Amino acid sequence: MHNDIKEILITQEEIAAKCKELGEQLTKEYEGRFPLAIGVLKGALPFMSDVLREVQTHLEMDFMDVSSYGGTNMKSSGEVKILKDLNTKVEGRDLLIIEDIIDSGLTLRYLVDLFKYRKAKSITIVTLLDKPSGRTAQIKADLVGFEVPDEFVVGYGLDYDEKYRNLPYIGVLKPEVYGGEE
Ligand code: 5GP
Ligand code: MG
Ligand code: MG
Repeated sequence: MHNDIKEILITQEEIAAKCKELGEQLTKEYEGRFPLAIGVLKGALPFMSDVLREVQTHLEMDFMDVSSYGGTNMKSSGEVKILKDLNTKVEGRDLLIIEDIIDSGLTLRYLVDLFKYRKAKSITIVTLLDKPSGRTAQIKADLVGFEVPDEFVVGYGLDYDEKYRNLPYIGVLKPEVYGGEE
């Protein structure tokens, strides 16, 4: 375990098993179709890579990078800015949005509204983590890997100050690492 981590909440093995399970569900959902899988950078990258390798249908991949303005490192402000847009037209497509975590839900609410405006045929959301206690926007994932408590988690794509994304598990930082910022 990394020295900055206080506790591991979800192990590498648990994540792998969950990716397999979610991949099987997605295989059923998209059988005979050609969905566009959209990874929300950068946090969703490890999850996207692992879950999509468990999906047996054809699919296309694209990425979107968004940031929310003005919040601290640990809370989303709700004002979403597009840093990198898709290279693919979504009109008439079945979209699978892949997220690392839903907290306030503001980022996903924005993306879903944007893709509806762009005339997507269907929108399915899969998120590795769900933190329902943080929700302020009205949004619900179709598929959730794990529910997490109201704690700031890192690892497996999730960062603090751009660090810890490469940890293979989901954990909680020691408070002294972030100096108690909220
Ligand atoms: P939301 O818009 O739902 O509040 O959160 C969107 C983004 O905030 C997530 O995709 C993630 O990048 C970040 N975020 C929310 N909660 C956490 C957390 O507990 N840990 C980390 N590292 N990032 C989080
Ligand atoms: Mg994210
Ligand atoms: Mg972050």
